[in-house]
Amino acid sequence: MEKSVPSPQEVAVPDGSHGLGHAAAYVRPATHASVDGGEMERQGRITYAPDIDERKGFGHRSSLGRSRSRDSISIRSVRRTIDPSVILPPQFRTLSFGIEETKRQTQAKKKPAAIEFGDMDYHTLSIDEIFTRLQTTRATGLTSTQAAQTLKAIGPNMPSPPPSRWFRNTIGYLFGGFGAILFAAAILVFVAWKPLGQPPALANLALAIVLVIVWIIQAAFSFWQDFSTSRVMASIGTMLPAECFVLRDGSLQRVHGKDVVPGDILRITLGNKLPADVRFVEVSSDARFDRSILTGEAMPLLGSVDSTDSNYLETACIGMAGTHCVSGSAWGVIVETGDRTVFGRIAKLTSTPSKGLTPLQREIYYFVAIIVVLMLVMILVVIAVWAGWLRKAHPDWISVPVLIVDCVSVAVAFIPEGLPIAVTASLTITANIMMRNKVLCKSLKTVETLGAVNVICSDKTGTLTRNIMAVTEYLVGKESTAALKAPGIYDTQTGLQKLATVAAVCNEAEFDASSMNLPIADRKVIGDATDSAILRFAESMAPVAEARSAVRSTFKVAFNSKNKFAINVVQAETDTSPLMMIKGAPDVILPRCGSYIDGNGFVERLEETDRQTVERTKDYWSSQGRRVILFAQRPLEQLQFQPTEQPREYEREIMGLALSELVLVGLVAIVDPPRAEIPEVVRTLRGAGIRVFMVTGDYKLTAAAIAAECGIITHAPKDIDDVTNLAFDDGYLKAAGIEEKRSTDSTLTRSIVLSGADIETLDKSQWNMLCNYDEVVFARTTPEHKLRIVKELQARDLVVGMTGDGVNDAPSLKAADIGIAMGGGSDVALEAADMVLLDSFAGIVEGVRYGRVAYDNLRKTICYLLPAGSFSEFWPVITNVIFGLPQVLSSFLMIIICCLTDCAAAIAIAYEKPEADVLMRPPRNAKHDHLVDWRLILQAYGSIGVIETVCSFAMSYWYAQRAGLTFSALWFGFGNTPNGMTAEAMTSILNTASSIYFVNLVVMQWFNLFAVRTRRLSVLNHRFNWYLVPAIVFALSIAILFLYVPKLHDVLGTATVPVAYWFLPMGFGLGLLLLDEGRKCIDESTESTEVIICGGGPTGAMLSALLGQYGVPNVVLEREPEITTDPRGIALDEDGIRCIQAVGMYDRMYSQIALCHKMLFISGSDNNLHKTPFNTADLTTSEGNTSHVGFVFHKQPELEKALRDAIATHSASQLQSRCTVQSICEDSERVTVEYTDARGATRKLSGAFLVGADGKTGYVRKRYLEAKGVRLDRCEGTNYEESWVALNWHITPPTPVTHPDFPLWKLGYTPEGVYDAFFPPDFRFLCNPARPSVCGRFGRPEDRLWRFEFVVDSTEDATHMASDEETRKIVFPYITHPGRKYGLSRDIMFPADCIETLRSRPFSFLARCCNYWAVDRVIVVGDAAHVFPPFGGQGITSGFRDATGLAWRLCHMYRRPKTDHQSLLRGWYLERKQQLEHSLAATIRNGEFVTNGNFFKAFLRDWVLWAMQQVPWWRRRMNRVGRATTKYHHLPGLPFLPEYGGGVNLPQVYARPLDGPTDTVAFTDDLIFARHKKGLFQLLVMVDEASQVDAVVKVAEGTPGLFGDFIRQGEATLLVNDLAASRSDIRDRIGWTIARIASGDEFAREEKLCRNRPAPAFYNAWRIREELKAGAKFIIVRADKFVYAACSNRVELEAALRSLPQCLHT
Ligand SMILES: Cc1cc2nc3c(=O)[nH]c(=O)nc-3n(C[C@H](O)[C@H](O)[C@H](O)COP(=O)(O)OP(=O)(O)OC[C@H]3O[C@@H](n4cnc5c(N)ncnc54)[C@H](O)[C@@H]3O)c2cc1C
Repeated sequence: MEKSVPSPQEVAVPDGSHGLGHAAAYVRPATHASVDGGEMERQGRITYAPDIDERKGFGHRSSLGRSRSRDSISIRSVRRTIDPSVILPPQFRTLSFGIEETKRQTQAKKKPAAIEFGDMDYHTLSIDEIFTRLQTTRATGLTSTQAAQTLKAIGPNMPSPPPSRWFRNTIGYLFGGFGAILFAAAILVFVAWKPLGQPPALANLALAIVLVIVWIIQAAFSFWQDFSTSRVMASIGTMLPAECFVLRDGSLQRVHGKDVVPGDILRITLGNKLPADVRFVEVSSDARFDRSILTGEAMPLLGSVDSTDSNYLETACIGMAGTHCVSGSAWGVIVETGDRTVFGRIAKLTSTPSKGLTPLQREIYYFVAIIVVLMLVMILVVIAVWAGWLRKAHPDWISVPVLIVDCVSVAVAFIPEGLPIAVTASLTITANIMMRNKVLCKSLKTVETLGAVNVICSDKTGTLTRNIMAVTEYLVGKESTAALKAPGIYDTQTGLQKLATVAAVCNEAEFDASSMNLPIADRKVIGDATDSAILRFAESMAPVAEARSAVRSTFKVAFNSKNKFAINVVQAETDTSPLMMIKGAPDVILPRCGSYIDGNGFVERLEETDRQTVERTKDYWSSQGRRVILFAQRPLEQLQFQPTEQPREYEREIMGLALSELVLVGLVAIVDPPRAEIPEVVRTLRGAGIRVFMVTGDYKLTAAAIAAECGIITHAPKDIDDVTNLAFDDGYLKAAGIEEKRSTDSTLTRSIVLSGADIETLDKSQWNMLCNYDEVVFARTTPEHKLRIVKELQARDLVVGMTGDGVNDAPSLKAADIGIAMGGGSDVALEAADMVLLDSFAGIVEGVRYGRVAYDNLRKTICYLLPAGSFSEFWPVITNVIFGLPQVLSSFLMIIICCLTDCAAAIAIAYEKPEADVLMRPPRNAKHDHLVDWRLILQAYGSIGVIETVCSFAMSYWYAQRAGLTFSALWFGFGNTPNGMTAEAMTSILNTASSIYFVNLVVMQWFNLFAVRTRRLSVLNHRFNWYLVPAIVFALSIAILFLYVPKLHDVLGTATVPVAYWFLPMGFGLGLLLLDEGRKCIDESTESTEVIICGGGPTGAMLSALLGQYGVPNVVLEREPEITTDPRGIALDEDGIRCIQAVGMYDRMYSQIALCHKMLFISGSDNNLHKTPFNTADLTTSEGNTSHVGFVFHKQPELEKALRDAIATHSASQLQSRCTVQSICEDSERVTVEYTDARGATRKLSGAFLVGADGKTGYVRKRYLEAKGVRLDRCEGTNYEESWVALNWHITPPTPVTHPDFPLWKLGYTPEGVYDAFFPPDFRFLCNPARPSVCGRFGRPEDRLWRFEFVVDSTEDATHMASDEETRKIVFPYITHPGRKYGLSRDIMFPADCIETLRSRPFSFLARCCNYWAVDRVIVVGDAAHVFPPFGGQGITSGFRDATGLAWRLCHMYRRPKTDHQSLLRGWYLERKQQLEHSLAATIRNGEFVTNGNFFKAFLRDWVLWAMQQVPWWRRRMNRVGRATTKYHHLPGLPFLPEYGGGVNLPQVYARPLDGPTDTVAFTDDLIFARHKKGLFQLLVMVDEASQVDAVVKVAEGTPGLFGDFIRQGEATLLVNDLAASRSDIRDRIGWTIARIASGDEFAREEKLCRNRPAPAFYNAWRIREELKAGAKFIIVRADKFVYAACSNRVELEAALRSLPQCLHT
């Protein structure tokens, strides 16, 4: 079925004349074509009016049906009718599922309708029992008398028309919501006017009329809203036939359809529509019934006399009213008529409003309830005060009519009359905005719902994936091959030819004849996506038409989600017996196969090992996200039944034969790539706190792989839970004393993949556990499972969105809080859904966004309406009653505020744009977060309301005072006129005061409007809403109209307001706005720190730890909940070790993190790890710049753990996991990031600098700096770009117990010996021209981790090469030893079951580097700034170097905020780029060794290097590759002095302190940069012998300004370059660190430092002296261990000190 996605324009088309055909949904079987016109007449068939209609429409049915449903989903349309055939199926399917469900869970609560059907037994009774029950016979039927009596008793066979409910609805429109109150108020005021009013007050009449008008407008609005969204089902009565033939009194009689009764024997022939439910008593072999009106399924059902299903709704022995016979003929006994038929019951259910209230409706009712309760309480207070006090104390003050008006005034005051209008307008506006975004809301009620969902269950095919499928691989025999190669080898492979035939014939897809001249890929195909892909694959080998014409199809079983296979029985001209071809899910069919066809077309027995091979291939393909389809066949011999004569028996026989002894023909893998936008959509939804679950019919592994590609599953396959993790809850395990292996940390993301079969086994507590998972994939599900999933989630208070597009999805779409159909879905699904995504699944983001905006804007509307429209109106009434004051705002003006002046602005709020965080906060909790909560009440009443009320009172009484009516005269005045003032004068003053109160409110509300526009942001930071302008102009015009038209004054009690009284309110309004801005300022209080680090990988963590040492406040925001367990980087060079040492974690290096070994370079392609290397890089020596070994091979997770522990030791540093940076904004002083925290809340953090350490795809560069011109470019001069597969294995050595047959035991090998033999120590570069690789152990030796990385050829698919199958082919030859090596006859392979693959993933490498690493206050470091190829082990160390160079600079800027940060940071990255070149050069050098594919070059290389190795001097030089000291070239702005030997990386040696009680050897770094030293520069004073100490110390101490902020007093270090110097030679210098260099032997004796690492070889204790400028004595060293200046004397030292501030841009 080709799905077409309608455009919005198409959707809005009101008639069906040009709808795009959605043909397949309504395709009738071909036989139906004969059921028209003359053919029917010829058969003597009675024609019915509906049939004629249908015949007329038949040819156009598809388009009609389609366009109707399109029409029905337009929110603009008015009063539409809908085709019952799209509205009945959802109910039918729901009931059918319900029956299944209740059957399964007898304990569960049953739905009444489901029970009714579940209890029906007409299908299970024998025919005779039915005849007895209905007192009828097959031969004669009922007698006329019997029939007449029954008809009288049970009524005619007509479904009763759905109740019109017009009365109830009208009452609802008039008196629902605030309607009843308004109505009662109007009546009461009328009564107060006359007869109670003596004399009748005109103002009361006016008020009453206004109330009536408001009441009518309200009712009209409700009516319009309902009318415009209600759908009327087309008359269901016409769906039943007018006449039919029944057997009565022994003869066949034509009776009216409505006159049939249970017991009638009905004659059914081709084309007849069934008038009632019948149990078939006789069926012709070809009797088929089209039930699509009820089920939505186009395939007609073969009628049967015996029951075929225990479910009444699914059995084939029951014919249902409204369905019709499309072939053959039958007799049936009528069992139910009228409303009791399936049709009647479903029609009834359909016409009763099904869904409960939407979350928004519930909220609005909740709000109305609050207001009404408040109002009633206040009215009671008024009445009580009057009755208990005023009536007696001031009898003239409030008469009964006045009391009524007062009570009404309280009601009027409390009710925000404009609210219903504002709500409807707001939802309509939002729905229209959504429609512009290709999201169609079918009803206003559901506009907001998507904003509240917290789980979205999405189907896969077509929603997450493109539904454009293609075959990528196939398997014939046991060999899998790329599909592209198939056409080339088709002619030579008989097995493949057989696969092509089955693929062509057992396939429902067809090429569109009009496109047959196009290339296969471009042809149009009619059929579902899977069949289409297979069709193209088959056609690519041989014409499908030929294969199909060579056979004749005799029987078919269509694919369905329960069976998961399709069958086509064909008869070839040349064969005597038919052949059954079967296609479907491998997990279902493979177990039924007993043999297979090999590549040459021979049938072989399918042994267990063959089966495993096929399984492995299938699993591998599935794990790559491919859909795998298996093809099999079986020759059919000696069948008992004939397909035409005994179709049902034949079907049963075929289904039986399909259970076993199938011959496997082959498998195909079909790719359906995820839509490109999906990962982003999923990420956004997750950011919005919404969990996205996948529900698919696919196989588990396929589903999990696609889910991983879509970002729905974020864990590695080994970390994904399955149903066994739900087996026991934690409490049970604990009680049973079983230690739970699963992490119970609720802050961790947990993923699970379950199949449909698993779902069926879950109990309540397991569902509870399941619903707590963050990432869930439901595989191999049926539509019933979907419905169950929705219900279970809802039962746990989750608001569920469900997507779907098939007919069978309708029940779950209906059951979900919001059903979402895709634009191209079936009409039934479109009808059942609440929302339609017209373009793609990405539209859901807009749906969520605007759903939330609608809710936010409603809150804003309420917050806007309540202060003036409720609170400020209420107080004049209360003060009037209680304090005897005049009612200073007339009831009439109250209504004007509510319904006119406030209303336009309230509608304008609906146009407010989304606030920035709308998709970053979690969905509201429908249970706890209410539309109106105490915060809103406090703001609306307690804050804005109070201010507006006080200001308005003040203005009014101030005016009265100035006009001579003092407040004291009015206070407890109870209407008394002050002395000397006439009543008219007083009324006139009070009318003006009332108008002033009104003006004050109107004007202040303008400012309130701006205040409520944003929740937390300053109004200045929010985009302007231009609709506010006309709204304000409108309010002004209304005010002018009522106040400045003199004719209205007398009637309405209004008056002209002096101009001055317009301006003061503006001042008050401004004050109110400023106050609210202040509130937002406090609300918005952003956390702050000095440095924000985005990303807690190695680089970010190192930076944080270093900043912590310097006391610079910093926060690391890390997205992941915990350190990734994937050991990516493994090689760390000595600089990296030095950095680890710098953060105090050296002692973990060899005990927890890493091991050290040599690097061997091996040539040749003989897969021998033990071959003599042509070169050895002995990096275990300590001859480098740091006195560490040259390289270690570490476990990255352990390394990162050490770094995080280092962070934890500093109070200034903080690492926050599960925090994802979402947005960045910056001004000249600060950077502010918005991030979602572990609880999903959006928070803000501001800092002086933001460092993006978020990796190569990081947010900071991609989303923020790229727009500022930062690019991650390919490094100049490098063109290395290649894909590698990196494989990590965990090895468990075999033992004689586990592997008694392993041959090496006999030779005396121990398990450890076997491990060493197959996975030898030392790292190997396998310079194999065919497949360059590297391999070796990493982590601690006892970790037994093994890395193998190999190059992927450009012709290979990297993902495929990472598969188990391919990696085995490449790696196993290396761990298979020739038998002769051990004197054995057979080769020995290391046991595969002792190997666990921890990672096998491809990655591509290209040297890249950012052009700028810092722009303003935002910086990138580590992989975010540069990416390396492998071989150099430079990735992590480079990040460390970035961090080391940056940390002291950030600290400097922290201490001296006025520093020119741009220049300082530029200096940093210019230096870093220089060093990067060295790293890159080393990497490229190594790479050339390894990847050199040129035979001659390789040959030459091997020999030259081998020859050089023979000369010891050369050997040493070769062994110590890349261990030179780094030196920077000076460039302007770099902080070192080249003229004084600056820019050199200070070497590190061992030293023995001479200044303290301890006598242990240490690293010089630990002395010079000891943790307690806080200066960013250190002074290292160096002498060659102890006798020179006094002189240099004297010079230093005599140098003015030496110690200050940069170099701190007491932090200097004195190093004596004399191994023999002792403590007695040196006088203690107060506060100085004093030490002498130490020898390698001394170090080797130092157990703590040297444990587990090689003793220092080729160590040079004098390296510092040798690397620095000759004669250097006073060395100023930066905190990143680069020399600023190495001065020989005081003059140089002074000059260096003077230059420092300038060099540091301070
Ligand atoms: C297969 C392979 C082998 C390698 N081998 C070596 C090797 O042998 N030696 C070597 O030195 N290097 C090697 N590398 C490279 C090394 O792993 C990287 O250079 C190193 O991990 C980079 O560290 P990083 O901290 O800069 O970035 P990453 O390690 O990528 O860390 C970035 C962090 O930022 C977080 N993050 C991302 N976005 C956000 C956000 N919006 N908000 C909050 N947090 C966010 C991420 O969760 C992540 O934790 C290898 C890499 C691979 C893939």
